[in-house]
Amino acid sequence: MAVRFPLYVKSLYESAERVPQPQAQAIDVVVRSRLDGAMASPFTADSPLASSVMASPNLDERCAPVELIVLHYTGMPEEDAALARLCDAEAKVSSHYVVRENGEVVQLVAEEKRAWHAGVSCWRGASDINSRSIGIEIVNPGHDGDCPPYPDPQIAAVIALCRDILARNGIRRDQVLAHSDIAPTRKQDPGEWFPWGRLAAEGVGLWVEPAPLDDTSGAEADAGEAAAFIGALAGYGYGITPADPPEVKAAVVAAFQRHFRPARGDGKVDRSSIETLRRLLAARQALVVGA
Ligand SMILES: [Zn+2]
Repeated sequence: MAVRFPLYVKSLYESAERVPQPQAQAIDVVVRSRLDGAMASPFTADSPLASSVMASPNLDERCAPVELIVLHYTGMPEEDAALARLCDAEAKVSSHYVVRENGEVVQLVAEEKRAWHAGVSCWRGASDINSRSIGIEIVNPGHDGDCPPYPDPQIAAVIALCRDILARNGIRRDQVLAHSDIAPTRKQDPGEWFPWGRLAAEGVGLWVEPAPLDDTSGAEADAGEAAAFIGALAGYGYGITPADPPEVKAAVVAAFQRHFRPARGDGKVDRSSIETLRRLLAARQALVVGA
């Protein structure tokens, strides 16, 4: 999807500095934040789907190869305020891309640089997820804004952008994660209403049909089953060990449920969650073997 969207420059920013277009799908404009006082280096968009670049100063050098995409919601009521914050040097946050509600894609940080979106986080035993990932902020007010649905054009743009990033960076589809997956005790974005199944149907992320949740399958598992489930979560990639305190385990279980069994996210190990994770691990194994 190579839809071009009208350029939008908020008065918050310096007037746009138009740059020559080196190719047909080049960037329309480079904008520098003036909120920060720091110089944000202009760059050319990595993705042809980005209709503009708004260079954030909040970046540094990567320390590891890119292997993940991390999806976020902005969690702010105003999308322009969210963009401004991601370009504000004092906020010390950024992402590589922002996807507006109308589907417009704005790039803030070059993919070769480390953006600051993940914070303290872990996946498959690795920390410094900022070094290892490309971060996409999706404009949505989030839990504090009563969890409004993500508009169709926005999700279509997220899917197209992720497919482009996966292809250009050689990232396997299951390596598309939620912020809540990599920081389960701190974060809950992009939220349990995020349409992971729709993304997966188009090759972005891994998703299996959640196991049914009823009185039997929703009953809490016994201690042995719960311990095995914790081990299986770690095997999938979640940062959890048997020695973690109960509240940490509950947060990780809830993060799994939020992403993969969103009908209930109470953080308790039930048989529906166990079966859903079993299906998920099998699906990933099939993906790895087939790769
Ligand atoms: Zn986030």
